[in-house]
Order: sequence, then structure tokens, then C-alpha cells
Amino acid sequence: MEEQTTILVVDDEKVIRDGCTLLLQPEGYRVVTAANGREALDLMRDQPVNVVLCDLKMPVMGALEVLKEAGALYPEVPIIIITGHGTVADAVECMKQGAYDFVTKPFRVDHLTLAVKRALEKQHLERQTRRLQEEQAKNLYTLAMEQSRLLTIVNCMADGVLVTNRVGEVVLCNPTFKQLMGLSGSLPQPGPLEAYLGEESFLKTIEELCATAETGPAKCLSQELCRGRVHLRAMSAPVFGPDEKVLGTVTVFHDVTAFKELDAMKNDFVNMVSHELRSPMTAIKLQHEVILDGLAGEVTQKQRELLSRAQAKIQGLLELINESLDIAKIEAGHRHLELVPLQLGEVLREVAQLLEAKAADQKVVLRLAVPPDLPPVRADRRSMEEVFVNLVSNAINYSPGGGEVTIAGLSHGDYAEVRISDTGIGIEPEEIPKIFDKFYRVKNPKARQIIGTGLGLAIVKGIVEAHRGTVEVESRLGEGSTFRVLLPR
Ligand code: ADP
Repeated sequence: MEEQTTILVVDDEKVIRDGCTLLLQPEGYRVVTAANGREALDLMRDQPVNVVLCDLKMPVMGALEVLKEAGALYPEVPIIIITGHGTVADAVECMKQGAYDFVTKPFRVDHLTLAVKRALEKQHLERQTRRLQEEQAKNLYTLAMEQSRLLTIVNCMADGVLVTNRVGEVVLCNPTFKQLMGLSGSLPQPGPLEAYLGEESFLKTIEELCATAETGPAKCLSQELCRGRVHLRAMSAPVFGPDEKVLGTVTVFHDVTAFKELDAMKNDFVNMVSHELRSPMTAIKLQHEVILDGLAGEVTQKQRELLSRAQAKIQGLLELINESLDIAKIEAGHRHLELVPLQLGEVLREVAQLLEAKAADQKVVLRLAVPPDLPPVRADRRSMEEVFVNLVSNAINYSPGGGEVTIAGLSHGDYAEVRISDTGIGIEPEEIPKIFDKFYRVKNPKARQIIGTGLGLAIVKGIVEAHRGTVEVESRLGEGSTFRVLLPR
């Protein structure tokens, strides 16, 4: 409930006090009265008062003393002086001492109420201004505290942090960033990005982010940077202002050297084991072949059956070993690519020929739709053969009930496309992002009999990306799949 506005009338003449009460009460004010300054101050101590109407001259305590005491204790309460015509000069003196206004006796109704209203308005405005000032001071304090807290977090982070403004100049970097970059001493801020990190690909990323359109989804770009023996993963994102315009960028640098070293150790180990296994496996396979060919004596039907099964398992193991060695090489970037102008049509024809018998075995019709004018791409022949043998083998393998596999070549300006489509078992949508992972195999009951390592598509992806191409798949469960390889010309 809103409190009633209280006006205190201080005058030694009862008639004035009563007159004021009669005039102000109908305006909705609560009126309290005092016969002199002392009484008035006692009353103000006991209850809140909004405006004081105070006679200039009173016995015990006059207006000047009230002004002095009340002004110090209740600075927000306006005091209006009631004065006679002959004492206007004294009233002006009171104004100098802090009175808000004065009204002369005998006063008119409208003069008195107007003076009170204006005093109340002033009081209201002053209160509002004070509240806004307090709020502003509080906000500034919170902001400064937030800023200091953020700066401390950034400075304590184990990851490097680099902040740029909208023109790509560095405005902040933390001690970890300096340490990762081997920077010492003070650097200009704002300063040119090149002075902090001059890597071409990074400069381009920041340029791209600074040019981000004001609307649209925020992007976060990730890249790997190599500084001598230190490997860093850098995640960069634009910073938007309240107007949705780019204010600058923030990049966080995570040191992944330890992971890289572990990965290299793991690859070395896998390579070593695979190499050690390959020779004895090949020897066992050859010896089985000698036995199966009857060169070591007659083989019974049962023995042949058992040996053939063992042969299939050994073949599977050899494939796993070869593919593990292959993927390790691709991942380490050690696979040598001899990029030459390559007629994809020729490669695809050879792959189709190689896999014709396999397709016939599985009652799959293999179709080749390659236009004679398919332009050449710059690629490594052996790697391309591996890519398409893998994809076409999969297309045949994952069509266990027979069907159709089509190898098509298309040209799109700067890119050549190869599409391998089948009418096989297809892939569920949620499996699609995982099938290019190493060793991932979809658990489809229809594919249970199909032998594989889960490495084929990882190798395909690795090779295609090493050629700056892309591989993607569209598939419908139970209807078939299409793998599309795009290669730059
Ligand atoms: P795998 O040795 O198991 O064939 P890949 O890496 O070549 O390994 O393939 C990974 C998985 O992707 C396979 O296990 C299979 O489930 C799925 N897949 C690949 N090609 C096809 C295809 N043409 N049709 C249906 N599923 C496929």
C-alpha cells in the first residue's frame, strides 16, 4: 500500500496551522503541525515527513535554525518558508541556506498547493536520480568485478588464449599463449597478429571469422598448428556485440603434443607387431597351399575342408595386418603419393575387371557407366585403385542376396565424381557418421556372415582426403547405398 504523503506545517500561529491543514487535507495529504522549530524537529525524528512548511520567525526556534538542523539530518526533505511581505529579504536568505521555496502570507490556495506539489516533484526526481546513480555505481562495480574475475581465469588457464578485435589486431593474450609461442617481453596491444602468430592458415582463419556476417549461426573453426615439436589444436570463434556485429575473435590453443606422441608410439607398436606377424602368416598360408595342392601327399576330403577354413581365417588376418599397416602409414602422413594426371575411367575399368568374378560369385550384376570424356584428375594410381577396390568390394559384399552395383563417373567443372551405388542391405542413418571410423562395423544381422576388418572405409577416407577430395554416403536401410567420391582435377 502506498504511504500517504505527509506535510509538516510549523507555525506559532494556530490560525495558520489550521488554515494550512484545511487547504492541504482535501488535496489528499496527511497534515501534521508543530508550534515551533524544536517541536518540528522532535516530530520529524518520530515519523517520516515529505515536505515542511515552516514559518520564518517563531519563538523557541526559527526557520534558519530548522533549516540548519533538518537540512543536515533530512537532506531529502524540502523546506518551504512561510513569510510575511515585510520579511521577504529574510526568506531569500533562507533560500541561500537551503530552503526550497517560500510563500508569502496571506497566501492564496493555489500558490500554497503549487509550492507543495513542486517540492514533492523535486523530492521524487531527486530520489529517482539517487536510485539511478546507485544502480549505475553497482553495475560498474559488478562489471569491474566480472572483468577482473574473467582476466584472472584467462591468466590461470592451462590453455593458451588469444583475443583479437574486429580488424584482427591482438587485444589480449594470456601467459600460457606466450609460453606456447615462445614469446617474451611486452608486445604491443592492440598489435598486429603476425607479431604473435604468423602462421598463414591461422591468419586466414581469423580474417574469415572477422568477416562473419552479422546474422547466421556462429561458427567455431578448428585447426592443428605445429610449432617445432609442439602440436596445438586451435579453436577459434567470432565474438558478437549486442548489435550482433562481430567485435573480434577468441582462440583457445590446446597443447596436444603428448597425445600426438602417444599416437605415434601406438602406431609404431602396431606397425612392429604387424610386420612381425605378416611374414610367418604368409609362410603358413603358403604351406597350407602346398598341402592343399597335394604336393605333400594325398589330402582327405575332411582335411581339405579344415585346411580351407584355416586358409580363409589366415587370409582375413593377413588383410587385417595389411590394412593396419596401411592406415598407420596414411595417418602418419608417411604414405607416398605420386600425383600424376590419372584417367579415372581406366582405373575404374580395371577395378571392375578385377572384381567381376567376385560379383558373379555373389550373383551381383556389376555395371560400369563411365563417359569416355571423363577428365583426368591429379592422383596416385595405386591409392585410387585401393579406394575403388574397397568401395566396390563393399558394395558387392553388402549385397548378400545378389543385386546390382553401378560404378559411375561424372564431371563437375573443377571436380570429378565417382559414384558407387548398390542395391544391398543399406545403412541406418545413425550409423552413417561412424562407418568411416577405424575398426567400426555395423551390427546388421544380414551382414553377420560378411568378413571384414572395419578398416576399409577409414583407408578410403584417409586416401581421398590426402588428395584434397571428399567421400560421402547416402543410404536407405534395406534399399541400398551410394558412396560418392569427389576429387579435384
Ligand atoms: P568392413 O571391413 O567391415 O567392410 P569398412 O570400413 O569397409 O569395413 O566398412 C565399415 C562398415 O560400413 C561395414 O562394416 C558395413 O557395416 C558398412 N558398409 C560399408 N559399405 C557398405 C555398403 N556398400 N552397404 C552397406 N553397408 C556398408
